[in-house]
Amino acid sequence: MSTSEDYYRLLGVNRNAGADEIKKAYRKLARKFHPDVNPGDKHAEERFKRISEAYDVLSDPKKREVYDAYGSYSDSFRGGAGPQGPGVDFAGFDFSGFRGTGFSDIFSQFFHGNSSAAAPRKGEDLEYQVSMGFAEALKGLQTRITYARREVCHVCQGKGQSGEERARECELCHGAGRVAQTKGRMKFTTTCTQCGGSGRSSRACETCHGEGRVATTDSLEIKIPPGVQTGSRIRFAGKGDAGVQGAPHGDLLIVTTVGGHPFFERVGDNVYCKVPITLAEASLGAKIEVPTVDGRAVLKIPPGTQHGQKFRLRERGFPSLRAPARGDQFVEVQVILPRIADERSKEILRELARLNPEDPRRDLFNF
Ligand SMILES: [Zn+2]
Ligand SMILES: [Zn+2]
Repeated sequence: MSTSEDYYRLLGVNRNAGADEIKKAYRKLARKFHPDVNPGDKHAEERFKRISEAYDVLSDPKKREVYDAYGSYSDSFRGGAGPQGPGVDFAGFDFSGFRGTGFSDIFSQFFHGNSSAAAPRKGEDLEYQVSMGFAEALKGLQTRITYARREVCHVCQGKGQSGEERARECELCHGAGRVAQTKGRMKFTTTCTQCGGSGRSSRACETCHGEGRVATTDSLEIKIPPGVQTGSRIRFAGKGDAGVQGAPHGDLLIVTTVGGHPFFERVGDNVYCKVPITLAEASLGAKIEVPTVDGRAVLKIPPGTQHGQKFRLRERGFPSLRAPARGDQFVEVQVILPRIADERSKEILRELARLNPEDPRRDLFNF
């Protein structure tokens, strides 16, 4: 491999040429010197390798930086610069087998023969995250989102090929679809590699570079059902990337992130909270008002309720995403004891203790 070649001069561009200009120059030269266009011409083949090498370096910002700084770029350079050297991404260019994949990769970008046209393939599913509040998750949310996806290229209608070029005769086989080849003494014809046998010249659409799809920003009104939680996925069929070659669109998946609440804790579809009650309410029983996600509700505290006891309010939780049902609310009561200072209250408590001579620690010593 030559390292003294001036890549800019090879491509006929000046040193501050932009990426587009370099690409254009390469395309022009590649068409002219491509081995398929010049069968048996060693000079053209050599020239093609060199311009491809130049393009490989100059079209890659990292490699170009190295080339600009050191005046060369090659495999041997790697040893000098070390693995931490500039432009770590050193891919050696081996054009010795340039009819193999390396060659066709570079080439198919520009000359999209029918043989290499992409097969129909369903569009990719896209995943986007939507954040919402606790209350929004309870009621559901309707919102408009803006997101990036790939749409069918409007210029080539998704075919990936430039229309005017397709109408033209293939430059290599002149419309025959087959080309003559010689191997040793054998002469035979094979399917034309440039047009894939169609006899028509086809080049990649300039807008989508042959992919048949282009990046676009879309906006969509989405309805998030009540009951989602963090990590819920809602599928919007057909709203993902466009398919390749007329294949159907992929889906859009909205993954929700739901915020918390200062009072309620949510676990699945159930809601948990702690509610304080007085000694009298716990001992005598009471009907108290407690907050629920729907507003106030009455909770019956039975006489003799203990600290930490849990009560269930049926169907006061979140709507279920899977069934037409709701979760429950669990209320844990916390008995708040009175802070007694006056003599009368103390007297009443002493009397209460005399009337209820219960030892709550009696089981602690009966192992
Ligand atoms: Zn296109
Ligand atoms: Zn052809």
